[in-house]
Amino acid sequence: MATFRFEALKKAAGRKPVKVKELDRKSVIFANNVFNDKAMRQFLTPEGYQAVKGAVQYGTKIDRKLADAIAQGMKEWALSKGVTHYTHWFQPLTGTTAEKHDAFFETSFDGSDPVEKFGGTQLVQQEPDASSFPNGGIRNTFEARGYTAWDPTSPAFIYGTTLCIPTVFVSYTGEALDNKTPLLRALHAIDAAATDVAKYFDKNVKKVAPTLGWEQEYFLVDKALASSRPDILMTGRTLLGHTSAKGQQLEDHYFGSIPTRVLNYMRDLENECMLLGIPVKTRHNEVAPNQFELAPIFEEINLAVDHNSLLMDVMSKVAERHDFKVLFHEKPFKGVNGSGKHNNWSLATDTGINLLSPGKTPMSNLQFLTFFINTIKAVYTHEELLRASIASASNDHRLGANEAPPAIISVFIGQQLTKVLAELEGVSKGKLSPEEKTDLKLNVVGKIPDVLLDNTDRNRTSPFAFTGNKFEFRAVGSSANCATSMTTLNTIVAKQLKDFKAEVDTLIEGKGLKKDEAIFNVLREYIKETKAILFEGDGYSDAWEKEAKKRGLSNHKTTPKALKAKVSKEAVKLFAEMGVMNHVEVEARYEIELEEYTKKIQIEGRVLGDIARNHVIPTAIRYQNTLIENVKGLKEIFGKDFEKVAKEQIALIKEISTHIEGINTNVDAMTEERKKANNLSSSEKMAEAYCDKVKPYFETIREHCDKLELLVDDEIWTLTKYRELLFTR
Ligand code: ADP
Ligand code: MG
Repeated sequence: MATFRFEALKKAAGRKPVKVKELDRKSVIFANNVFNDKAMRQFLTPEGYQAVKGAVQYGTKIDRKLADAIAQGMKEWALSKGVTHYTHWFQPLTGTTAEKHDAFFETSFDGSDPVEKFGGTQLVQQEPDASSFPNGGIRNTFEARGYTAWDPTSPAFIYGTTLCIPTVFVSYTGEALDNKTPLLRALHAIDAAATDVAKYFDKNVKKVAPTLGWEQEYFLVDKALASSRPDILMTGRTLLGHTSAKGQQLEDHYFGSIPTRVLNYMRDLENECMLLGIPVKTRHNEVAPNQFELAPIFEEINLAVDHNSLLMDVMSKVAERHDFKVLFHEKPFKGVNGSGKHNNWSLATDTGINLLSPGKTPMSNLQFLTFFINTIKAVYTHEELLRASIASASNDHRLGANEAPPAIISVFIGQQLTKVLAELEGVSKGKLSPEEKTDLKLNVVGKIPDVLLDNTDRNRTSPFAFTGNKFEFRAVGSSANCATSMTTLNTIVAKQLKDFKAEVDTLIEGKGLKKDEAIFNVLREYIKETKAILFEGDGYSDAWEKEAKKRGLSNHKTTPKALKAKVSKEAVKLFAEMGVMNHVEVEARYEIELEEYTKKIQIEGRVLGDIARNHVIPTAIRYQNTLIENVKGLKEIFGKDFEKVAKEQIALIKEISTHIEGINTNVDAMTEERKKANNLSSSEKMAEAYCDKVKPYFETIREHCDKLELLVDDEIWTLTKYRELLFTR
């Protein structure tokens, strides 16, 4: 019987909001558990402190003797906060975070002299016994050696009673086995390229660092209800379930009053975030029922990526305390919106300037336009690679599903900037007359208002939108590690800025143009060249798909197709040229992502087959038997007239049989396709087969199951229903 479902419902209905332990004001507790500037000043020697600062700001190496001293200080700080263990915290290519805890505690050989030990060696390098992390063939298992190495640019922090040290994860042969290493390399590349260009406008700029503010969307489902659904447990989403009569049509959830149970969860979570130095700021209800969003104040990108990864872990843990399960999947429920993770991105100089923010003078506006147009050009040139950077089995459900950006990459810039670009397009070739220069200064670059915010950003259908002082990459999925998309974005912009600099310098040196003339000349050509990527209309419309095709933009709707761009000749060359990844690292990631895709669809197929056969069919048969009993009884009473009174029941009996038959044939056929796919030898072919041959059965099987859900007596239906999952809070 459906006892599990009803027990879960009873549990969920009886929940009270969990009390939150109030902490001091946010400004007081902020980053209390982070080995930040304040803690370092207190616990490090002046030399140790300077060494870490130098590493953070200019990437200088920390020598071993100093590392010992730093470790000592870090340990003292951690022990003063009741910490017992330490771990190298890293982001393997599974997309999540990994940790292996060691106690500070050590004894001498004979067990005497117990001490708390943690030295430079333990801080700087560890060797996780890690043959089980995905490596895409980089490491043969017999030499499964990879090591983690301290990343001083992301401060150590305490979680629970463990000191976590952010690290990179690389193989002994030097290849990156994680998401952080390529990101750090991309940051290095864009720093170099953007600093060179920024120097055209201000000689004092020594460093440019990208900034990132992510917006994390998620669903909360009562823990007992989530546990009652094998599909949610195993795949993070519902594979079947009839849509609820009420969904999001009334639009009463978005920005609505936050339910108390959820609000307490958010407050508890925010307290944890404050202690960890994650500057969370915004919380609100999202469009779908039981969907919410959390956004921080933006930070330097490496830190922002670490903070997002850490946050996702903390969110799941805090949810336990509040009897919730957090769903990060891009599409946990059919029929209501899915979840994304908008990546707000910009470039900041060490002189405190946001390079994507219009300034107060014509010169600072020319600087803004330079970085603005170069970013557009980068996206135009590498649109397929950018699309590939957000491809995953789960994000496939979202992109192009009329509630999220389409799978076509385009850039939205708003009316005002469209006008500015049109005017710049008219700039004369070569040297500019004094009149033209004055006109440009006064009427074009001089006229960009420093607050564009209200005039842009009202096109929610764009995957890559300029929102006043930053670009917002909206196609990133809610479950993604931001490192993947941000590595790509920073690499392509770095490459573009490098090329731009070369072109401008050629015009200055070769053609004797003045600096601003040269810049205007190059930008004019870029504007002409990149028009195809700019789109201001409705990204959800069919008309756009047709138009985009005409413009030659890619439209890869599935992950196996989209991923190919990652290993194109151009991509391999690009990553190598910018020092971000060598071809082995690029190919390994491609391999891993294909495998992950295949495994995800494979698991979904198995779970769906299992639920359909072992939950849905037996329940349907039980109900059908009740109907048969009923018909038999009617026959007893009414004799030969029974067919008239039993007409509906008989029709139902037949309908149930049709759906049972539908499930069985399709599950069989799907299983056959899985077998065939599993026998393929290349991971590319296998992913394609899972995508094109296996996955299409999901919808058909689901349809039969969902129809049965509507027919069968609610009392015996074992699977918790959509209305229960989405409206219990
Ligand atoms: P919304 O997009 O929902 O309207 P906002 O535009 O206010 O919200 O901000 C969204 C995110 O953008 C926040 O995380 C914010 O910190 C971030 N953000 C704002 N300025 C920048 C910037 N210069 N660089 C990176 N992120 C930024
Ligand atoms: Mg936003």
